[in-house]
Amino acid sequence: MSLQERIESVERRIVAACARSGRKREEVQIIAVTKYVTEKITGEVIRSGLNKVGENRWQDAQAKWEAFATEAEWHFIGHLQTNKVRDVIGKFQYIHSLDRLTLAEELNKKALSLGIQVNCFIQLNVSGEETKYGLPPDQLFTFAEQLSKLSALNIVGLMTMAPHEEEAEKVRPVFRELRNLRDELNSRQIFTCEIPHLSMGMSNDFEVAIEEGATWIRLGSILVGKLK
Ligand SMILES: *Cc1c(COP(=O)(O)O)cnc(C)c1O
Repeated sequence: MSLQERIESVERRIVAACARSGRKREEVQIIAVTKYVTEKITGEVIRSGLNKVGENRWQDAQAKWEAFATEAEWHFIGHLQTNKVRDVIGKFQYIHSLDRLTLAEELNKKALSLGIQVNCFIQLNVSGEETKYGLPPDQLFTFAEQLSKLSALNIVGLMTMAPHEEEAEKVRPVFRELRNLRDELNSRQIFTCEIPHLSMGMSNDFEVAIEEGATWIRLGSILVGKLK
């Protein structure tokens, strides 16, 4: 399948998932995860209209970012080491993997020195798998209190990665839990503004994620897998 055909097929499935759950198509945005592909394919993805791009390592992203910095909105979705903050700050408009205080403090410090705000998602390890990054959900509210004091961080949502399951239906509780945590966070009014977003759902489970309220889905292999 060509890139265009893949995009059209994914689009139909998103529209159907929105319809099933009574949501509007505009409530769901696609992050095209380009970590598997070259700069050339990344350029094609951006020109095809998918101009929100996700990468999970700066080493892999750098050449693409330098080529298309202003043509796309950049989302950093991978685990972020504290000593790599200086590479990504000011380049990625969104960081999806904020999961600990030391990282938050470093992001805040660097952002203050640049005079910018950084949009962040708090990454939670909802499934509790040992191999997954993310904050344990029972620490969310304490962490949020700490984040609310860091003036250069703009917390926009929660993010999670579900376990890989052949049957996507099995991970529905993970997505539902993330939505409940966001709602609880908002009802506690820890942040001055309401937190609207849920970054959840990947190639194998994005429809279930949409049904459970995802506002950003992160799609890699289904869009660009094996394109050369
Ligand atoms: C790679 C990656 C994705 C995309 O995964 P696919 O299954 O290929 O769609 C989404 N989110 C994160 C954090 C990733 O690292």
